[in-house]
Amino acid sequence: MGIKCLFNIHQWNGCKCEKCGKIRYEGHVWKGCKCELCGTVRDEGHDWNGCVCSRCKKTRHKWADGICKVCGEVCHHPNWEVVYEKNYGTMDYDSAGRSVDDFVVTLYRCGKCGQLKKEGRGDFCGDPHELTDITEEDYKIVGT
Ligand SMILES: [Zn+2]
Ligand SMILES: [Zn+2]
Ligand SMILES: [Zn+2]
Ligand SMILES: [Zn+2]
Ligand SMILES: [Zn+2]
Repeated sequence: MGIKCLFNIHQWNGCKCEKCGKIRYEGHVWKGCKCELCGTVRDEGHDWNGCVCSRCKKTRHKWADGICKVCGEVCHHPNWEVVYEKNYGTMDYDSAGRSVDDFVVTLYRCGKCGQLKKEGRGDFCGDPHELTDITEEDYKIVGT
């Protein structure tokens, strides 16, 4: 590191200081979405090769039920994010005095492809699918 860099006097070559390697926001030399000098990526000028940008590897798959409509890639849903949790209270009406767990439904959204899934846990009397089906309301909540 140059001594001047310590005093914030850098020797800029475009976006990058030649002495210490510090990056500043101005001066990038964009080649499509990527700066040639420092490798910073911006969200424009991508070089799409099918669904993948050949420069920065960003993807733009068109997901439908976990499969890309364009290239056929399958999402293995690596990252389920909780959207909401709803507690329906006691739903096991036959329990008659025995202790039961509240029936709780969780809506998840895949962080990669946006697919939704719902899971119920706790004690339920009968078939809980009415509560665990994805509804119009759910799509509205996640904005798809
Ligand atoms: Zn510097
Ligand atoms: Zn740069
Ligand atoms: Zn790109
Ligand atoms: Zn794709
Ligand atoms: Zn997914």
